[in-house]
Amino acid sequence: MSNTRQLQRLDREHHFHPFTDQGDLNKRGTRIISKADGVYLWDNEGNKILDGMAGLWCVAVGYGRKELADAAHQQMMELPYYNSFFQCTTPPAIKLAEKLADLAPSHLNNVFFTGSGSESNDTVLRLVRHFWSVQGQPERSLIISRKNAYHGSTVAGASLGGMTYMHRQGNLPIPGIEHIDQPYWFEEGGDLTKEEFGKQRAQQLEEKIIEVGAEKVAAFIAEPIQGAGGVIIPPDSYWPEIRRICKKYDILLVADEVICGFGRTGNWFGSQTFEIEPDFMSVAKALSSGYLPIGAVIVSDRVAKVLKELGGEINHGYTYSGHPAAAAVAIKNLEIIEQEKLVEKVAHDTGPYLQSRWRELASHPLVGEVRGLGLIGALELVADKKARTRISKGGKAGSLCRDFCTANGLVMRATGDTMLISPPLVINTSEIDELIGKAKKSLDDTLHAISDGVLEA
Ligand SMILES: *Cc1c(COP(=O)(O)O)cnc(C)c1O
Repeated sequence: MSNTRQLQRLDREHHFHPFTDQGDLNKRGTRIISKADGVYLWDNEGNKILDGMAGLWCVAVGYGRKELADAAHQQMMELPYYNSFFQCTTPPAIKLAEKLADLAPSHLNNVFFTGSGSESNDTVLRLVRHFWSVQGQPERSLIISRKNAYHGSTVAGASLGGMTYMHRQGNLPIPGIEHIDQPYWFEEGGDLTKEEFGKQRAQQLEEKIIEVGAEKVAAFIAEPIQGAGGVIIPPDSYWPEIRRICKKYDILLVADEVICGFGRTGNWFGSQTFEIEPDFMSVAKALSSGYLPIGAVIVSDRVAKVLKELGGEINHGYTYSGHPAAAAVAIKNLEIIEQEKLVEKVAHDTGPYLQSRWRELASHPLVGEVRGLGLIGALELVADKKARTRISKGGKAGSLCRDFCTANGLVMRATGDTMLISPPLVINTSEIDELIGKAKKSLDDTLHAISDGVLEA
């Protein structure tokens, strides 16, 4: 079974991949990843690859952590599964809820467990509307989100998200969701300064609230930094203005922390980095470093009080809410993050080091902007640095660069012509040097290929 050709054939015959053009994939064949350790992956052919994306933004503590495998093993031997319905729960679910309440900003102390980030946002949609409904305002149900946001791939997650290519399939978004423009200065800022632009984009929230009527608006949802949309870091003027507007109209503020949560930006949560003060935080991904699937919604005291006093039975939950083995792994994962001081390292050591080295790439002829914070970063590929014009339509330069990265032993992701990195939080400085070296070489390879006319074919 280790024969790559044979595995690829079976994959082609039986396996539908997520976010994939299956016909195209089948022509090219899948890349089979068969083992991993630390920040490295190995494919089935034995090629070693530096994982600049921590899987899908999730493997915070790196691969091969025996402590996490042991935590799962021990819990599975003791109690592999029980639910949190019908007045029951399990010790790991209780302990993880307490741990999350402890780590979260002080006004967030209640936790609803889910199986993923998408499910967390489904839960948010239900709870937000229920919150207003039980207070006699059922018409207050509209949720405002942003274009190019990513909130997952379930019906509610994709609807809250602002990806038009996702909306085009399956008649999305569902009713009751409005999208305003994103704070993406490089792509949409024109001649405005970043600060002017950030404020203007935040003020679209107020315009939308006035347009639809504040008495109809339940919540605003946003990622502190848009991840899948292209690591879009809002200008400093953005979040304070959003906060002001939510307060003024008494709109619930939801921070989708599925990527920013658990240290990525140098604080436990992106909400702390940007001083967001949310009513809800959706988390998943680095909560368990991806070792087992688990997510959560962390709820503010204000919301929890209403739900406990007036909410009655909440007719919502998942078979795997608070899954004991996943919760045990999450607890151990959070302990590792604490013991190894990974959040502090991202803030004061590896984060600043990565950012200073990442910014060296700004001098490359293809790079129009370099941005990043903590251990997350983006590069914009351009034809003209000053005019911020793209090389060709349809993100072809980004795909080309990503393929060179893979060939050079680095996983870097492309969203259109924006190159993204989000390495494991355990990455050290020499591994960061390797990442930068491989990124540089891949940019050079991309430049040569473009000069040779590959994108014109
Ligand atoms: C990945 C992601 C999700 C969805 O999480 P899944 O576990 O894939 O369902 C939601 N929000 C953000 C910001 C994400 O990055």
